[in-house]
Amino acid sequence: MANQHKKTCGIIGTGIAGLASAIRMRNKGYDVTVFEANPFVGGKCSSETSKGYRFDMGPSVFTMPGYIDELFVLSGKNPRDYFNYEQLNPVYKYFFEDGTTLESPFGAEAFAEAMSEHTRDSKEAILKYLDHTKMVYELTEDVFLKNSLHKLRNYFTWHMLKGIINFSKIGTAETMNQANSRAFKDPRLVQMFNRYATYNGSSPYLAPATLNVIPHVEIAKGAFYPEGGMFSIANCMLTLGKEIGVTYHFSTPVKEIIVKNNKACGIKTAAGDFDFDVVISNMDVYNSYAKLLPHAKKPAKTLSQPKSSSGIIFYWGIKHDFTELGLHNIFFSKNYEEEFDTIFSKKTIYNDPTIYVNITSKHTPTDAPPGCENWFAFINVPNNSGQDWDALIDQAREAMISKINRRLKTDIRPMIETEMVFDPRVIEKRTSSAFGAIYGNSSNNKFAAFNRHPNFSKEIKNLYFCGGSVHPGPSIPLCLLSAKITTGLIK
Ligand SMILES: Cc1cc2nc3c(=O)[nH]c(=O)nc-3n(C[C@H](O)[C@H](O)[C@H](O)COP(=O)(O)OP(=O)(O)OC[C@H]3O[C@@H](n4cnc5c(N)ncnc54)[C@H](O)[C@@H]3O)c2cc1C
Repeated sequence: MANQHKKTCGIIGTGIAGLASAIRMRNKGYDVTVFEANPFVGGKCSSETSKGYRFDMGPSVFTMPGYIDELFVLSGKNPRDYFNYEQLNPVYKYFFEDGTTLESPFGAEAFAEAMSEHTRDSKEAILKYLDHTKMVYELTEDVFLKNSLHKLRNYFTWHMLKGIINFSKIGTAETMNQANSRAFKDPRLVQMFNRYATYNGSSPYLAPATLNVIPHVEIAKGAFYPEGGMFSIANCMLTLGKEIGVTYHFSTPVKEIIVKNNKACGIKTAAGDFDFDVVISNMDVYNSYAKLLPHAKKPAKTLSQPKSSSGIIFYWGIKHDFTELGLHNIFFSKNYEEEFDTIFSKKTIYNDPTIYVNITSKHTPTDAPPGCENWFAFINVPNNSGQDWDALIDQAREAMISKINRRLKTDIRPMIETEMVFDPRVIEKRTSSAFGAIYGNSSNNKFAAFNRHPNFSKEIKNLYFCGGSVHPGPSIPLCLLSAKITTGLIK
């Protein structure tokens, strides 16, 4: 019998935050075991191949790569031996319904210069806007992104004080669209900046202008493409975790978190029960309570917050090389407000949806057969409240193909040689996201940031949460920060 008890940690899920938490807990000296329901790693950040085409199934825009590097440095490794990425420039190609196309270069100066040449707004006006978003980012970064919002001690720090003093400047009193419409004369720039609300599954007509910090991250700090595709982000964390001694069990769904005397002390799986000193759930927090904590007192208000949008995604193998397209392409709708109203109020899909087409073979030609392209064609849709998704998928396919055909002046239908489809039901089944919402709670009100579930349970000791459904929110960088905050709370 061991006479020295090494502390043990059980982690549920190998999403981005679960993988990062495992590495961090191991570095704290814990014995770490991770349980994943799927046979594959990464949760939403996964990859599939079909007929010679490789697809990243979830995230495609990669920002703040330093938070991945940090995990390797923490583990005494050189990140470049495991994971490499390239800065993108230009980042996006935007196709507008009026027939114009705009390319967004990296860097505030270059972006403002390029946009002022092609829109009605001056370079000074664009730079003023970007400077403002930078200021808001700097005011909010430490307060909202890097610390728990649910620990009293964090309210007595200099960063929090600075945030409180400058609260009126961070844009909680107006919506993103109000701020963007005030900043720009050209409706294309308003639409371009409004789109960033979709990065966390919200509507720019409801979400607070504080979220205008998102373009600062992408335009001023940069967007990147990882060597080997987005999936390599999850994969490199798995490799690192294994090297430093984390144990992973795949195809092992956790059935229950064992709680005794108000303390989490283990988990139940079909393969047996496992004891742990600490349990971290990377499963969506709504479903963690609904499925894994049947006897726990539930934080009803937090769990009842409106959920984010979801997506219908067609993964198309396209037998053609479109020289006019880039890695990231947006085909905008004509009436953006009506589109968001259809998604969030009518809870159905819009007949002229904004389409995002990501083509990684533009960057990595081996992701598609020669002369072909791997299209990830995405539209925002409501989360699952029982809609007839089979009918909506057919409707979406028609609307998307006819819009793309119109804009590219060709018929892509005969070029589609393979198709896979994700809808909110598939996303929920594959990742346990409640209602298939991609981004946890929506940010469609100014209190959303405060209404996310904390990174710990207030009722059950030794139980923690990480990932896109809890503080600080969704996206790869925020999930990495979530893992940092969560594990930072564990002594
Ligand atoms: C289509 C799409 C596009 C996106 N685009 C971007 C983008 O461009 N840029 C960006 O930064 N972000 C993007 N995101 C968001 C980003 O992918 C997510 O915020 C992030 O990957 C979520 O990670 P997570 O840690 O919350 O875990 P998740 O990915 O939600 O994974 C949770 C894991 O837990 C496992 N699990 C759940 N329950 C159990 C259980 N009971 N037992 C065992 N295992 C369990 C699941 O199987 C899953 O593997 C996108 C997401 C999607 C779906």
